[in-house]
Amino acid sequence: MNEPGRFRANYGLPLWKRDFDGVCTYAFIDTVDARYASLLAQAAARARDAGSPSIRSLAREAAHWLETTDFASADLDRIRQKTIRYLLELHPRRGQAAGDTGGRAMPTLENAHLALSIFEDASRIEMTDRKRGCVWRLDTSKSGYRLQGNSPPIPFPAGTARQEQESLLVSYRLAEGPLSFRWQLEGDHIAVALEEAPTGVAAVTLPGSFSLSDEPVELALPLYQGVLLRNRETDWQARTGPGGHGSFSMGMAGFLGPKGALLTVQERLTGWAGFYGAEGGKMFVTFEEEPCPVEGWQRPCVRLIPTDADLTALCKRYRAYLKERGDLVTWATKIERKPILKNLFGALMAFTGYNVDPELDYAACARDLKACGFEHIFFYPVRMGHYSLDFLMGGDQPVWLSDAVLAELKSIEGVMLSPWCWIFEGLDDGPGEYRKLFRKDAAGNFMPHWKIDDFQWYRVCTSCETDYIRKRLEGDLKAMDWLHFDVDATFPPGPCYNLSHAGHAGHPMSREADLEWKRRLFSPETVGNRIVSSEGFLGYCTPVYDIGSTKMMPGPDIARQTPVPMTLLIYHDSCVHDWWELHNYNAVPGWPVSELGRGMGRVGTGLPKLKASLDALYGCPPNVFPFGRQYAWANPATRESFSFSVRLEDPGVQKALREALPVSRLHAKIGPLEMVSFACLTEDRSVQAAAFADGTRIVANLSDQAREVAPYGTLPPTSWREVDR
Ligand SMILES: [Zn+2]
Repeated sequence: MNEPGRFRANYGLPLWKRDFDGVCTYAFIDTVDARYASLLAQAAARARDAGSPSIRSLAREAAHWLETTDFASADLDRIRQKTIRYLLELHPRRGQAAGDTGGRAMPTLENAHLALSIFEDASRIEMTDRKRGCVWRLDTSKSGYRLQGNSPPIPFPAGTARQEQESLLVSYRLAEGPLSFRWQLEGDHIAVALEEAPTGVAAVTLPGSFSLSDEPVELALPLYQGVLLRNRETDWQARTGPGGHGSFSMGMAGFLGPKGALLTVQERLTGWAGFYGAEGGKMFVTFEEEPCPVEGWQRPCVRLIPTDADLTALCKRYRAYLKERGDLVTWATKIERKPILKNLFGALMAFTGYNVDPELDYAACARDLKACGFEHIFFYPVRMGHYSLDFLMGGDQPVWLSDAVLAELKSIEGVMLSPWCWIFEGLDDGPGEYRKLFRKDAAGNFMPHWKIDDFQWYRVCTSCETDYIRKRLEGDLKAMDWLHFDVDATFPPGPCYNLSHAGHAGHPMSREADLEWKRRLFSPETVGNRIVSSEGFLGYCTPVYDIGSTKMMPGPDIARQTPVPMTLLIYHDSCVHDWWELHNYNAVPGWPVSELGRGMGRVGTGLPKLKASLDALYGCPPNVFPFGRQYAWANPATRESFSFSVRLEDPGVQKALREALPVSRLHAKIGPLEMVSFACLTEDRSVQAAAFADGTRIVANLSDQAREVAPYGTLPPTSWREVDR
């Protein structure tokens, strides 16, 4: 994560110069600049001894500059630019002016759609989209490797490119060993595989970021539901794997130019991170491949697919790829396997809190809520599906409604009940039965995770979760119609070294094997005819789960960082994309609206009109906290918690329900359908439109001011409308 200049000036470069250990002392500050400067010092020292005369002189100059610059008072952006320029120049490779091959050979592959050219020393890689006349050039400054996941990327040294049958092989000699990529034309796209990488390298870019020669490019990134980014005036960067919230929801990313777009597709489901941001006025994004801690490198591959220059075309091309791979399972197929899914369309998602509320008549409240007109109400959670109930949250017991109350709730037409399937982690019961389920890291230690007050939870192995929940579903969770799993989708798969687990007896569980267990956990073989949801929207979970979560709202700078329905354009007829359970339409204590920063929007409880407008546009069901009891943080740093109650008659709840009802009715109609197109209708991108397979078209004004948009006339502030065309 990059931090504002103030923090950098106080804690980054000056500390590095004074030989403080910036990483250890100020781990939370994560000073990218200090690391660059440290890299430069190393590079200069190396080059002073080993380089050509001109490189040696440059190295002396860089070392002198590092020595004499007053980092505490200097312009940090300029310093960073200069550091990076020195770093690039101290490499043996030399850059070339645009359009000039410098007399060198340039191996090239061509077909009717594409041309791919690579300089012999790999200093330039270009692909030409012949149909749209776009030349995409790899930004070599963003190609490289990392020695640790959080260490700064190191640019590749000079390489070699040569043609080998129908492909171009690009090779580098790193200090750690040989590394090579194979670039191959495959009809309308290019496949780039990491052919070989040394052990000791923690991440390799595949293949790097792209730009157009003269035209600005904006990014389409799958963060939350998706976001268009053109926030490139200041330098910033972020790195995240697949997961919920601000992580990558899907293994894809797009570059959007004026004439054409470039879709990059990650072939692997896990074992990668997205590295993105802005530098020197340019946006960048690249995948970085990571070896499996258990199985090592496994020939990662990324596809580069040119498409038309709009978000719908980009997302639909990714959808076509998923279909080809067999990873797009539509509602029709899912309903054949689990008929109960028909009840999902026209739903109100009704979160009622993890805590028990002893003063509440849940059944009476549910009847009153049903009387508001909702066709289906999805209550969660009505029981805490955890390993034990022997813990407190904000001082309260976990929720556990009696058999009699469950029976009363189930007698209300359209009511669907879920427990909190919190089996991702457990409390240590000493030599008891649950400690046996804990995951171990490579050093053989249990892995502490969630914490509330003084209660400490530990990660459980996914292979053990599957057996455990199956037994509970035959017992005290039998009456449940749907299952909300806690963060199983949110956290990316990882290894388990507890060799006593039956699911991987005698050998460590690989990352890929963990992913397979996650899919089994959600699948009908484990849950039967029950609807499945989990925190986090993850493309690779959609074949087996039915509701993913975590969406964001636009922030004040919607024109440059625009939340857009990428997951919906791809998966609307396959999976619901809900809000995180504590980001309800009504505002509740402890979970206020906050800005995400780093080129993103806002999250939090409340803003019912905005959430309703987004859900109508996206064809999603509404999410309200109508009544119940919940904890929040009194102090997030110390994990101190408090509790609060919500009542149906609260004015905030009533307002949220009024906004939710028409959205829920719309969902009954369009919930099962494909979203066929999406567009921003105004320059500031605050008015957006989406169309669905039956011809339904929704226009939403996401700004807090009225907007005049032809042919729709005046759209009131924060509103939505179904339109004819
Ligand atoms: Zn295990």
